[in-house]
Amino acid sequence: MSDALRQPEKWPPKLRLKMPSRCYVCGMWPARPWGRSWCATCEIQWAKAVPRCHRCATRISAHDAVCGACLTKPPTLASCCTAVDYSYPWASIVLQLKGEFGMAWAQPMAHLMWAALQTHFGTQIPTLWAPVPLHPRKLRARGHNQAWALTQALAQCAVASGASAPQLVPDLLLRVREGLPQHALHHAERWANMRNSFALGPGATGPKAGAPAQRAATGVLLIDDVFTTGATLCAAAQHLGQAFDIPVHAAVFARTRRPKDG
Ligand SMILES: [Zn+2]
Ligand SMILES: [Zn+2]
Repeated sequence: MSDALRQPEKWPPKLRLKMPSRCYVCGMWPARPWGRSWCATCEIQWAKAVPRCHRCATRISAHDAVCGACLTKPPTLASCCTAVDYSYPWASIVLQLKGEFGMAWAQPMAHLMWAALQTHFGTQIPTLWAPVPLHPRKLRARGHNQAWALTQALAQCAVASGASAPQLVPDLLLRVREGLPQHALHHAERWANMRNSFALGPGATGPKAGAPAQRAATGVLLIDDVFTTGATLCAAAQHLGQAFDIPVHAAVFARTRRPKDG
């Protein structure tokens, strides 16, 4: 056996995710009798369902439906759901998704998103799904759009569970302005940075102009990896509002926690 074969941690992630292996989080063996990259114990510990704001998915107390920020200034999104908080161990998994072999992480992440989606929407899951697009320059540099990888994996989860197949439209929106990296900006600057960042894509035929399948859509589901301030998703939803008379919702893998969330 060659040295490389003796060291699974050096295998390409795409191969590692297909093989029985240790849990990515706690290192216990094996992680994958049930199609995840982490073990059941870690998922129960780190992906607990908690009460969240219906509009922005931030943590709230159990007797509220919407957070104070969304009551004061309702977002352009009709609602948002998340699988987990953007914290240990999921933050590093989000980074893996954006990495060279990131596509392989989409499926295990989508399993958690699909569970959150079903809890959030019940049987009323929006039928038209679109990823938040990357600017073409960033897409060339990264090689894949992590939001599109999650969208496709999530649709596979839907079909595998017997739900109707959603309509996937990868070019519903285009990112036409690159702006500065959002993580480098303060809260207020992020909203300004997203101004004029999106345009309707060729896939946005919409109920006003559009294809029969889009006319029949019950809602749009925008899919992304992380919700931080909501600036990106709300700017995207605002543009979609120009073409669709139906609600625009969002589903993300992880939601950043506000300091007061504790
Ligand atoms: Zn584990
Ligand atoms: Zn909220």
